[in-house]
Amino acid sequence: MSTLDDLPIREDLRGQVPYGAPQLDVPVSLNVNENTYGIPEAVALSIIEKLAKATVSLNRYPDREFIELRTQLAGFLGHDLSANQVWAANGSNEILQQLFSAFGGPGRVALSFSPTYSMYPNIARITLTKYVEKPRNADFSLDLNQVVRQIQDVEPDIVIFCAPNNPTGTSLSLELIEAAYSVSKGIVVVDEAYSEFSNNPSALGLLPGRPRLVISRTMSKAFAFAGARLGYLAADPAVVDAMRIVRLPYHLSALTQAAASAALEHSNLLLENVERIKRQRDRIIAATSYWGLSPYPSDANFVLVGGFSDSQLVFDQLLRAGVLVRNVGIPHTLRITAGTEAETTKLLAELALLLD
Ligand SMILES: *Cc1c(COP(=O)(O)O)cnc(C)c1O
Repeated sequence: MSTLDDLPIREDLRGQVPYGAPQLDVPVSLNVNENTYGIPEAVALSIIEKLAKATVSLNRYPDREFIELRTQLAGFLGHDLSANQVWAANGSNEILQQLFSAFGGPGRVALSFSPTYSMYPNIARITLTKYVEKPRNADFSLDLNQVVRQIQDVEPDIVIFCAPNNPTGTSLSLELIEAAYSVSKGIVVVDEAYSEFSNNPSALGLLPGRPRLVISRTMSKAFAFAGARLGYLAADPAVVDAMRIVRLPYHLSALTQAAASAALEHSNLLLENVERIKRQRDRIIAATSYWGLSPYPSDANFVLVGGFSDSQLVFDQLLRAGVLVRNVGIPHTLRITAGTEAETTKLLAELALLLD
């Protein structure tokens, strides 16, 4: 048996470990911001029907351009978007990797604002893009003038904003995105993975006249479709052309296209639980704040709760009680996904016992 170190692996990958939250079999799993409601039976049956049709043609390569799905995604997004402004991949992580492949790479720089989504540095590393992170304010907000100065300083080829921000839940103003775009020469990416939970307008409205702006979305969170792996972007058609150059041929399987297409036909049903989830999010904020903890305001389907003297201890104790949350490494905090009412009740009951 050899180890990784015995292999002629790239020097910059030596000592690296695979990224990923623990996948544990627990009764209440609130650690990766999934929609914890299952797929409604009517939707599941539609998906199976479309999958069955796609299955008999699996001897053929899929539609490389997945026009039907892109047309549906454009229709879902609205804002007068058309299929040639939309692109999809196996999760928005792959979307981001394709963006970094096309607009980053050796000698190029990506800029983001920490703490933020931990995949950004990973994707930068894989694509050999230099990654620079500037710190957020103490409350995790961003200051417009400071961001403008930082962009002028760093001159990044890619600026990436996560809005609402994972893992803090912080929202972002369109004014800041506009200002960042206007001083940037590179691509400006807004990762709107949690947009459906947000009370703030999407940056989709900023697309007209901004060919270097890219909005990234996913069906993994609000859509309750994480297992299917479908992420997408909206941007100028030229950005989509760039994606075509770096994608692997036929990257989106016929089964993925069929499942996503069937799901989109039921977008209303799939998004039905968004308001319920937001109520549970607000319940977590209210309860933890009442107990003297410090939840951060959240515009997403999770809450970063601060004020734990030993957050790893609380994480371990919750896990022993069958509740899995996330320690993202910000001292004294835990990130908790808002689940169903029953899951939230269990979480809060266990937390109350621990705090007593
Ligand atoms: C969950 C998440 C994603 C989505 O990943 P998928 O690959 O689409 O499942 C993207 N960005 C952020 C910030 C996320 O939290």
